Amino acid sequence: MSQYLPVGNTLKSAWIRDRQDLDNHRTTETLPERCDVVIIGAGYAGAATAYHLVKDCPNISSIAVLEARETCSGATGRNGGHLRPDLYGHIPTYVDRYGVKLATEIAEFEIANMWAIKDTIEQEKIDCDLVLQRSIDVWCNEDAANKASETYQKMRAYNLSYMKDVFFTRDPKTAEGYSGVKGAKAAASFTAGSMWPAKFIQGLLRICLASGNVNLQTNTPVMQIEEDSGQGHKIHTTRGIILASRVIHATNGYVSSLLPQYQRNIIPCKGICCEIAVPTGSESPAPLLNNTYIIRDEERVLSYLIPRTNGSIIVGGGAAKFAPFREQWYRNVDDSILIDAAKDFYAGFMQRTYRDWERSTACITDIWTGVMGYSFDSHPHIGTVPGHKGQFINAGFNGHGMPLIWLGSKGLARLVSADFKGEQISFGESGIPLIFEATQARIDRANNNKEEDGDILGNGQIFLPKSTNPTLVVDLQKSVTPYAQAS
Ligand SMILES: Cc1cc2nc3c(=O)[nH]c(=O)nc-3n(C[C@H](O)[C@H](O)[C@H](O)COP(=O)(O)OP(=O)(O)OC[C@H]3O[C@@H](n4cnc5c(N)ncnc54)[C@H](O)[C@@H]3O)c2cc1C
Repeated sequence: MSQYLPVGNTLKSAWIRDRQDLDNHRTTETLPERCDVVIIGAGYAGAATAYHLVKDCPNISSIAVLEARETCSGATGRNGGHLRPDLYGHIPTYVDRYGVKLATEIAEFEIANMWAIKDTIEQEKIDCDLVLQRSIDVWCNEDAANKASETYQKMRAYNLSYMKDVFFTRDPKTAEGYSGVKGAKAAASFTAGSMWPAKFIQGLLRICLASGNVNLQTNTPVMQIEEDSGQGHKIHTTRGIILASRVIHATNGYVSSLLPQYQRNIIPCKGICCEIAVPTGSESPAPLLNNTYIIRDEERVLSYLIPRTNGSIIVGGGAAKFAPFREQWYRNVDDSILIDAAKDFYAGFMQRTYRDWERSTACITDIWTGVMGYSFDSHPHIGTVPGHKGQFINAGFNGHGMPLIWLGSKGLARLVSADFKGEQISFGESGIPLIFEATQARIDRANNNKEEDGDILGNGQIFLPKSTNPTLVVDLQKSVTPYAQAS
């Protein structure tokens, strides 16, 4: 087995430090002998795919979810809880790369995810602290604020309807007064959410288990997949073999262990996050925060932040602090140790960042790390694994899975179900943005270029300008979906 198996003795995050009922769940004492679909990974992608298969695909009646460690012990159980369509970070870059139409489709997909998640949580009554707020972007660096202002004007000029929800100010007084962030030079805001991700995942899986169609097996690492034309797939685990007609890889940063063709496409990269709280009984309570944040400080170090309903703050990021120390985060799956170069960055963060927090006794109550699946072109790979009929991938969500995975998994369930019935449907019919399709061209692009040319280590230069990227253009033209007509 390759080096990317999840490690033991991990640092617990604030979301998973208290035990939940499905942590070590095994629906049956032994593994089922065979099933229609095996899903590998019980994080957000695995649980959401299982949920959509159960709800939307009655032709699939036996699903096994195999998880190497505890339920939701990967990135999903360690993230920032920020359900935030990214209208300012990525989308303007995608406009430059792919044109307005394709980039807008990604933005609208992210926004649609947020509303669809809210609907499901309400309908299913999942108790996971979902709150919708304004997410405030703050720029404290003068040049970065100017750039943000240019971006805002550019995005406004496209007349995109979702931009109506975006408020932007380049006036430092308004920016600081509105955001509460000291030294803010510009600020923007739009609708976003926050939630307790592990409770959401456990809630989804509970619904799946109640259907009687799903068998969840935790502490069951998958070690190998054997393709067998007669029987489908033999899934080798540390606890025995399961035969499955279809296999879904929802292993995110670890995906290349079982699919080595993704070695240069989806790379395990660590991030850091913490919980900050005012100790009980403190005589210096901190002001209440009602918004989520992305803060780019004077040094351009980016942090994301959400207030929790229990009054604490979840904050993480700091990548610029540890980026030069590549061995500490890049191709690294050890979530049992913190990233040394950033572990002290969030001490005193609230006091130095927010107005009126200076005298608060807020301090870090939990700090942890987690493994993301960073992809070469920043997009997840969703769909049939090229050249491996019956195997599907739903992975590579970078630090941004929350507003992508829900509807991505719904679309994938549709593709799997059609495949199971022997029906042909195009990727476009899945409702997933075409750019996210798992294609051989995307695998080849990462294999044929230097790692430094991709989005993880470089600045995405490989894709700019669009006309120098014939592989992508060919890719898009292959499709019969409306995306193909985009300029
Ligand atoms: C510190 C941090 C902060 C983040 N903050 C945010 C945020 O605020 N907002 C946001 O949108 N995104 C955020 N992200 C990213 C987000 O968490 C991920 O994109 C998302 O959780 C990915 O979900 P997943 O199910 O694909 O992966 P995971 O949750 O990692 O699930 C994959 C699962 O597969 C299991 N597995 C791996 N290999 C095997 C095997 N061989 N056999 C069986 N099981 C296996 C793993 O144990 C794991 O449980 C953050 C990530 C981190 C690490």
